[in-house]
Amino acid sequence: MTSGSGSGGAPRGGIDLGGTKIQAVVVDERQIVLGEARHPTPTEGGPADVAAAMSAAMTEAAGLAGVRTDALAGVGVGSPGDVDAQHGTVTAARNLPDWEGEFALGDALEKALGSPARLGNDVQVATDAEFELGAGRPYRSVLGVFWGTGVGGGIVLEGRPWVGRGAGGEIGHVVVRIGGELCGCGRRGCLEAYAGRAAMERRARQRHKKGAKTELFKIMEERGRSRLMSGIWERALKRDDPLAVELIDDAIEALGAGVASVQNVLDVEAIIIGGGLGIRLGDPYARRIGDAMLPHLFDDLHPPAIHVAELGDLGGAIGAALLAVPASQPAV
Ligand SMILES: [Zn+2]
Repeated sequence: MTSGSGSGGAPRGGIDLGGTKIQAVVVDERQIVLGEARHPTPTEGGPADVAAAMSAAMTEAAGLAGVRTDALAGVGVGSPGDVDAQHGTVTAARNLPDWEGEFALGDALEKALGSPARLGNDVQVATDAEFELGAGRPYRSVLGVFWGTGVGGGIVLEGRPWVGRGAGGEIGHVVVRIGGELCGCGRRGCLEAYAGRAAMERRARQRHKKGAKTELFKIMEERGRSRLMSGIWERALKRDDPLAVELIDDAIEALGAGVASVQNVLDVEAIIIGGGLGIRLGDPYARRIGDAMLPHLFDDLHPPAIHVAELGDLGGAIGAALLAVPASQPAV
């Protein structure tokens, strides 16, 4: 079946550009997924190679949805790095190969796909998706916390996304311990230095080398992986692996302090926990983060609601599709 749209809204594309995978979706006007494709993010080359892989993923998703990419109303992209939505450029996407300088990602995609492309910040786009279509629907103000390789944050206040001057929402770099662990950003004591999966893996490797008992790396090898992906942490926790339990406990304590500190400033109605670890570990761990927040909450009589992101792994891409210009709205 091709699209069932009777109201004239052409399907739209959405691409979530991650450090390890590129997720593309084609959705109809009600954001129902008509086709989706996932490709690995190139680890070599440069921005042009990443753009080519994004186009390939989008083309495959469109094929599965029974549309040509040049028939899409538009393609939205959730990107890491510094995103200039107005000029369609991305700078300093450091998880991606050789992407320190500015690259005109929007132009490259428009040329390859034949439809207009719009860029947004990956975490904000995923938060907007949860706000519009997922766990955030009942609320006017939410904080999205994306617990994965790093810890990303997205803010919606009174129904509108808040990115400050462009760098807002960086909850991963809220300080949870002055003079604490070194963070990937070069500063010390950030939330991400305790709760980001990359930092947790670094600590796990150090402790393992020093003889700490753990099955984390055995599970990693069994799964044919070279990194401690979220599913590996989940498995180790199920086996009560002592090192996994300890590092996850530390992460939850840090998340409690960091998220509560932001809540003390914003006082949003709900916190939505997403990201690879957040989604994998699900409700019991989201509740533990809520409990870990309590000692740090100024208004501890009225804690915010805590939810796990509902849109799961496709949330980023569906959110990106929300950026694409709807047929009924003229471009700015
Ligand atoms: Zn940091």
